[in-house]
Amino acid sequence: MRRNVTLKPYNTFGLDVMAAYVVSVNDINDIERIRKSGYWQVEKKLILGGGSNCLFLDDYYEGLVLLMNNKGISINELTGDRVMVSAAAGEDWTGFVQRMVASGYGGLENLSMIPGKVGASPMQNVGAYGVEVKDVFYRLHAMDLETGKLVDFEASECEFGYRTSVFKTELHGRYLILSVDFILQKQPVLNLNYGSIKEEISRMGIQNPGVLDVSIAISNIRRSKLPDPLQIGNAGSFFKNPVVHQLVFDDLKREFPDIVGHSDKNQTVKLAAGWLIEKAGWKGARVGDVGVHQHQALVLVNYGSATGRDIFGFAMEIQQSVKEKFGIVLEPEVNMI
Ligand SMILES: Cc1cc2nc3c(=O)[nH]c(=O)nc-3n(C[C@H](O)[C@H](O)[C@H](O)COP(=O)(O)OP(=O)(O)OC[C@H]3O[C@@H](n4cnc5c(N)ncnc54)[C@H](O)[C@@H]3O)c2cc1C
Repeated sequence: MRRNVTLKPYNTFGLDVMAAYVVSVNDINDIERIRKSGYWQVEKKLILGGGSNCLFLDDYYEGLVLLMNNKGISINELTGDRVMVSAAAGEDWTGFVQRMVASGYGGLENLSMIPGKVGASPMQNVGAYGVEVKDVFYRLHAMDLETGKLVDFEASECEFGYRTSVFKTELHGRYLILSVDFILQKQPVLNLNYGSIKEEISRMGIQNPGVLDVSIAISNIRRSKLPDPLQIGNAGSFFKNPVVHQLVFDDLKREFPDIVGHSDKNQTVKLAAGWLIEKAGWKGARVGDVGVHQHQALVLVNYGSATGRDIFGFAMEIQQSVKEKFGIVLEPEVNMI
C-alpha cells in the first residue's frame, strides 16, 4: 500500500492527481487481503486499468485506487475451428491482441492498438473499425466488492451496447473484473468493410490479407489519425457519437446537407460527433493548456498543465455550443472520476 501517490503515470490525460492510497492488484489474494484490511473502510474506491478512459476532476483523490496488474493468458481448443482465450484483467490490451493476431486467431484484429487493459474492455464494450468486444466476448469473472463473492457474467447479462455495458451503468463500481474469456476463430473471417481498411491494405501491397495484415493496417490508420497519449495527453474520443431517430436526422440534413451519419437498425442514425464539434467551430481550438486536437475534433487534449476541471469545463462549453447549433446533446464517453 502506498500513500499520497501521484496518478500521473496512470492516466493518459497525464493529469498530476494525487491519490490517498494506491495498491497494486497482482492476484485475487491481494484483493482479499485489502478487503480485510482497515484501508477497505475508506469511502471512495477506484479500479484503474490503464487510465485511458478516465478524467480526474479534482487534484486529490481521497480514496483507495486498485491498480489492476494481474497477468495470465490461457488458450483452450474448442470443437470446430474455435478457441477460448482467457485473459487476466491486468494484461495490456494491445499486447494481448498482438499475441492473438500473431497466433493467427481471428476476431480481435480490428480492435488493435486500443490503449488500456483487458479488464476494462467489457466496461464500455470497446469498439473500433466495425467490431465491438461483444462480438468475441464469452464470459467474464468478477468479484462482488460488496460481498467478496466470485461471480461469472455471460454476454447476455452484460447489457452490451454502443460504448456501454451494465458495468458502466447500474452495476458501476460494484464488480471488480478479474479476467475475461473470448471466443476466437482459427479460420478467421475478416471484417474489412469499415473506414479505409481496404485502401490501407492495398497501399501496403497485400493481395490476400490475413489477421496480421489487418492488424497492421488498422494500427497504421490509427497512428496517422489519433494523438499518442505518450506525446500529448488525451483519452481518445471524449464524447460518444449521438444516436438520433431517422426523422431527426432528416430534419438536420435539410438544414446541414453535409452532416455525417450512419444509419443503424431501428430507424436510428449514429451522427459523427467529430463533425458536429468541427462545424460548431471547435476543431483545433485551444484555451490555456486544453484543446481540441487539430486533426481529430472528437479528441480533447492536455497540452501540458491543464487540470481535470479545465478539461471538463472546456468539454461542457463544447457540449453547450453543439446543443445550441444542432439541438443535439453530446454525452461524454470518458468516465468522470
Ligand atoms: C488514443 C486513444 C484511443 C482510444 N481508442 C478507443 C477506441 O477505438 N475504442 C474504444 O472503445 N475506446 C478507445 N479508447 C478508450 C480506452 O482506451 C478504452 O475505453 C479502454 O478499454 C480503457 O481501458 P483502461 O484499462 O485504460 O480503463 P481505465 O481508464 O483504467 O478505466 C475505465 C473504467 O473502467 C473501470 N475499470 C477498469 N478496469 C476494471 C476492472 N478490472 N474491473 C472493473 N472496472 C474496471 C474503471 O474504474 C473506469 O470506470 C481510446 C483511448 C485513447 C487514449
